[in-house]
Amino acid sequence: MLRVFLLALIAGSLLAQTNRLVDAHVHHNGQEQFLNELVARLEKHDGMAFLLVKPEHLGQVTRFMAAHPGRLTGFGDVALDDPGVLEQIDRFHQAGFRGLGEISRTRRDYNDPAYTPIYDRAARYGMMLLFHTGIVNRVQPGLAEDVSVDRLRVTLLDNIARRYPKTTIIGAHLGNPEYNWAGEIARWNPNLYFDLSGSTLIKKQEDLAFFKTIFWWSSVASPHTPASRVSAFEKVVFGSDVFGGELAEFDASIERYKKLLGACGVSPEAQANIFGGTLRRILEGAR
Ligand SMILES: [Zn+2]
Repeated sequence: MLRVFLLALIAGSLLAQTNRLVDAHVHHNGQEQFLNELVARLEKHDGMAFLLVKPEHLGQVTRFMAAHPGRLTGFGDVALDDPGVLEQIDRFHQAGFRGLGEISRTRRDYNDPAYTPIYDRAARYGMMLLFHTGIVNRVQPGLAEDVSVDRLRVTLLDNIARRYPKTTIIGAHLGNPEYNWAGEIARWNPNLYFDLSGSTLIKKQEDLAFFKTIFWWSSVASPHTPASRVSAFEKVVFGSDVFGGELAEFDASIERYKKLLGACGVSPEAQANIFGGTLRRILEGAR
């Protein structure tokens, strides 16, 4: 009996940091079964996911979300170069979606003026923007494609964050490998956050203290850095980048984040914000 109690206690304390978790980065694979499995995982943490939904799955996901309130927040997974993108954004907004993304594989630089009408529309609707940043995979290496990492560079988010000060922007993957730029533009842009999904925490697993050099300004008082009372690591939000239905990545990501935050001595209060507190406040309109 005591053993059962102790095991329950240990499980409870492990879940404490991730209670009310928000996963900012989950790709829908189009299958209803995936939605059921995702919600089951989220329920363990009383959690929520930002679900990235292609326009063709809007109807399916809207119906599912209505049946599972509070577990999924919709993001419209639009292609910026699609001629129908503005009309798609309107439909996502009407369905109650709160953001756009993951924006990726654009024909032009993220901050190109051609995309201004899109960012204007998102700002008008109060939608967040989730951008892929840095290196990007080649899904079918045998096929020619017009994609370039230079158009997806993390530095391009700085201009968008400044032009749209009321828009919350999440950069996925911390600019991999331009972590230094990601950290510095997050420091100066209060509306810019990053997730640490992708290969970064695997690549750096033997050197997690490295991230203290990226998020270095906790409790630094200086005219050269914005005044802040919170840990510099609070520019990070949790994101798993589950795609193709690979839900094992959800649990693996939580473990990698916990190892990182432990290795960098990030306080339980800051960890609670990283694992969901920050994004819940933003969703409630109180950043
Ligand atoms: Zn990505």
